[in-house]
Amino acid sequence: PPATGTTAAPAVKTEKKPLIIAVGSGKGGVGKSTLTANLAVALMRAGRKVGVVDADIYGPSQPTILATKGERPQAEGDKLIPIASPFGIPMLSMGHLVEPGKAIAWRGPMAGNALGQLIDARWGDVEVLLVDLPPGTGDVQLTMLQRYKPAGAVIVSTPQDLALIDAQRAANLFDSGKVPIIGLVENMAGYACPHCGEVSDPFGRGGVEAAAEATGIPFMGRIPLAIEIREQSDAGTPTAAGEGPQADAFAAIAAQLAR
Ligand code: ADP
Repeated sequence: PPATGTTAAPAVKTEKKPLIIAVGSGKGGVGKSTLTANLAVALMRAGRKVGVVDADIYGPSQPTILATKGERPQAEGDKLIPIASPFGIPMLSMGHLVEPGKAIAWRGPMAGNALGQLIDARWGDVEVLLVDLPPGTGDVQLTMLQRYKPAGAVIVSTPQDLALIDAQRAANLFDSGKVPIIGLVENMAGYACPHCGEVSDPFGRGGVEAAAEATGIPFMGRIPLAIEIREQSDAGTPTAAGEGPQADAFAAIAAQLAR
């Protein structure tokens, strides 16, 4: 029998809410989803309990990268149960809620509510929830910031000017929502030719680090442009799950989140 003086545990267990870290970008196609998935895998390998919410309503790609395409989440009461990815990362995506191939003309409130379902799911013992935001600085991002108050945000950009200007806009959005910006990541920097090994910079190099310096936002590191990263994303075997310099680059950025 239990020691005297103890009271029975309450029947309803209260879940501790995970820390939300948003991953944003000023525009699409700069590698925000790729970075989110790989940071999640790297954090998991570093021993953190991490979950992923794919809030990119315009092009949800986490089901592809984290290999949960075609799955549908179950619900318990009024809460969704995250889908277990093969990498030990529970996740929920807008792509799990809508029919594949069916575009939805989301209106602001509708998108905000759907996002709420994903974030308020049964995350259990997840400590860190990485949220892959839609690109840009629109309604969904605002709802996200106002309603869920991320603990911090990571902004991804490619090195060239235009992407940088857009990233600055994303930074302003987080600033106005009083969400601390953890740092900037430069993606698609430096391409090593698979034939001759020569490294070239199709989208420039160093621009993001310079912008970080100019704005006082920490620079978190750069990820090279590499065919394997694209191939591994498409195959549902994220780069950070493997070994080598590219996996290390993701791990080095993730280490700055794990602190
Ligand atoms: P976003 O989420 O910003 O729209 P994605 O992560 O979907 O961008 O990336 C856009 C495309 O670029 C995808 O096909 C992805 O596999 C590819 N990609 C992203 N980062 C890299 C990289 N560092 N090297 C090679 N391909 C990349």
